[in-house]
Amino acid sequence: MKAKQQLSLLQAYKPGKPIDEVKRELGLEKVVKLASNENPYGCSKRVRQALYEQASLSVYPDGAGTGMKEAISTHLSVNKDEILLGSGLDEVIQIVSRALLTQEDNIVQATPTFSQYSHHAVIEGAEVREVPLYDGVHDLPAMLQAIDEHTKIVWVCNPNNPSGTYVNEQQLISFLREVPPSTLVILDEAYYEYVVATDYPQTLPLIHQYPNVMVMRTFSKAYGLAGLRIGYAVANAQLIEQLEVARLPFNTSSLAQASAVVALEDIAFVEECREKNRKELERYYDFCRKNRLFYYPSETNFILMELGISGDMAFQALLRAGYIVRSGGALGFPSMIRVSIGTAEENKGCIEQLQRLVDEAR
Ligand SMILES: *Cc1c(COP(=O)(O)O)cnc(C)c1O
Repeated sequence: MKAKQQLSLLQAYKPGKPIDEVKRELGLEKVVKLASNENPYGCSKRVRQALYEQASLSVYPDGAGTGMKEAISTHLSVNKDEILLGSGLDEVIQIVSRALLTQEDNIVQATPTFSQYSHHAVIEGAEVREVPLYDGVHDLPAMLQAIDEHTKIVWVCNPNNPSGTYVNEQQLISFLREVPPSTLVILDEAYYEYVVATDYPQTLPLIHQYPNVMVMRTFSKAYGLAGLRIGYAVANAQLIEQLEVARLPFNTSSLAQASAVVALEDIAFVEECREKNRKELERYYDFCRKNRLFYYPSETNFILMELGISGDMAFQALLRAGYIVRSGGALGFPSMIRVSIGTAEENKGCIEQLQRLVDEAR
């Protein structure tokens, strides 16, 4: 069986190594996974209760996701018809790519950035134009230069995975003023709830000012619901209506929808996670400063840092010590590792191992 030719250019997604696999392979009793930017504090207790009470598993979910759209509409002050629900942002990225991209089109994105934008563009046969980060940050002026009349989508991952850096409000607005109306600017805000920078742009009101702007958010990171697969996009109603055609009839489960509604209400949980994350992020900053190691200041729940050895070597050494991180090798930063911020105990243990590595390398 012959698949589309362009699939031979791609590989199936390789997730962070699962804990049980590492335990088995290395004979370790305790393994800590700091590789997939999951919430180390789990999810809101109220969500657990809601999951328990969700009785009707034998009937199809509400395909339109009415209740969840109402909740998002209330909490974020956007209209219901401006919301697209997906089985995680991964699926939203797929829906948008499938609906918009043809072989005549191109996308513009940063590099390195989140892998799925180019992945789906390639599957649709579109051209991928990659613009290197500048000092670890999206180079919006250079991205503007890369746009032409065939550019359907510009991806702005804000904050950016894997660098953790962000584009500020002024940079974004200057950019939006110049982008042609035929090009959709998609702001992937998967880490929105972790941001503390005061000049980070509040983008939802922009969708009314700019019909070519879309904002994406997810319940997988700060809300701690990665296992449920639920995320959404917000954009002008006309665009959302078109995208709805490319969506599977029941793409989000009833469990995921009900949980998301409750998760949105428990603002205190997310705030607590944001504060804890900041405090723990500082622990890594301190370690890097003390050892004069390069790192990118992060607005997320992960940090990209240099240890003086290759990312792959650091990854292997940390794995043997029971800590699963991400090697920068697979993320476009071969001399770095990306560590998800865990609980205080997890971070203390990880930093002990990082210190050992740094001391050995010197
Ligand atoms: C994790 C992540 C996603 C995907 O999130 P899901 O909602 O779990 O599919 C999308 N974009 C970025 C930048 C991410 O880091």
